[in-house]
Amino acid sequence: MTTVQADKTYIAATYARFPVTLVSGKGAELFDDEGKRYIDMGSGIGVNIFGAADPQWADAVSAQLRTLAHASNLYYTQPCARVAEKLCLRSGMKKVFFANSGAEANECAIKTARKWAADNKGADYFNIVTLKDGFHGRTLATLAATAQDNLHKDFLPLTPGFVYSEANDLAALEKALADNKCAAVMLETVQGEGGVLPLSHEFVRGAAALAEKYNVLFIVDEVQTGVGRTGKFYSFMHFGVSPDIVTSAKGLGGGLPVGAVLFGEKTADVLTAGSHGSTFGGNPAVCAGAEVVLDRLTDEFLAAVAAKGKRVRNALAGAKGVSEITGLGLMIGVRTERPVADVLADLRAEGVLALKAHDKLRLLPPLNIPDELLDEAVGKIVKVCAK
Ligand SMILES: *Cc1c(COP(=O)(O)O)cnc(C)c1O
Repeated sequence: MTTVQADKTYIAATYARFPVTLVSGKGAELFDDEGKRYIDMGSGIGVNIFGAADPQWADAVSAQLRTLAHASNLYYTQPCARVAEKLCLRSGMKKVFFANSGAEANECAIKTARKWAADNKGADYFNIVTLKDGFHGRTLATLAATAQDNLHKDFLPLTPGFVYSEANDLAALEKALADNKCAAVMLETVQGEGGVLPLSHEFVRGAAALAEKYNVLFIVDEVQTGVGRTGKFYSFMHFGVSPDIVTSAKGLGGGLPVGAVLFGEKTADVLTAGSHGSTFGGNPAVCAGAEVVLDRLTDEFLAAVAAKGKRVRNALAGAKGVSEITGLGLMIGVRTERPVADVLADLRAEGVLALKAHDKLRLLPPLNIPDELLDEAVGKIVKVCAK
């Protein structure tokens, strides 16, 4: 059997895969099983932030694999303690819980919000307000947090306790908080899967202020926007707000599965021994990779991410067949006049791999993609959009 035949025969059909079998990569270039070269404008959905096979990252992970790959959370281990310290010092948050994915990080955030409310407000204050077109994961609770009806269909009943409000509508958010007994507001500053839809500055700041006013937690899902993607370490830093909980995953591991929940002052001591846990969370090998990620996300590096984002935007602005450009930093949504599936197929033929988000083209290149490769990819996007 070919890889594609074996996949179609033996793997559950949850993914509408592109017809490409990737076998290797080097930085922002990927190679398929026929040796065709692609420029990577998706980075494994915002995961491979230094591209493929980054030597420093691979060396750190390999060295840890040969030392102690896994120990369980019954013991202290060094890499996760170092990563937690670096995350807190960098973000201003106080404590970390390690999970293995974005959905799991959000599950932990939801559990923490419920426990915080039960401890501080009463057990009936369990509702969490989330925003329409948001995305928080595929588990039952995070799916319930994800206000997209088409994803809920066939999986009812969902976990109760979520209230949906319109994005960028402060009056609606205030009504949701006033009408329901709430524990938290949870949002992405740029709705990634929802179509790279940025929240307005006014809305993010207003939502944080409303959370304060109604004594609920302010939770920012930074699973896609975090770890440098938007040109700041976390995207909330663009808005001058201080979340009570931040969730992080995707790029944090630099290519291995890791999720992290960052707790602020109000939430640092909510979870206690036995109230939550994970067998693999904070795994030494994964954290050895995450440590390299954190060490390299210097202010200089983040400034370069912002500059690369501008470079893409400038090149696409006014291009024929491009009607809108959204996003922040190197998280970019492009509304194309041609159907996005056709644009993606033509880009593949041209040797560029990109993503979609709803009906938009979505670009999430490695954060260190060289300008020459970025220009080459954007040139092909301009060409394909104009067809
Ligand atoms: C991808 C994503 C998730 C889910 O992460 P998984 O690692 O796939 O579970 C949650 N929230 C946001 C904002 C995401 O982009």
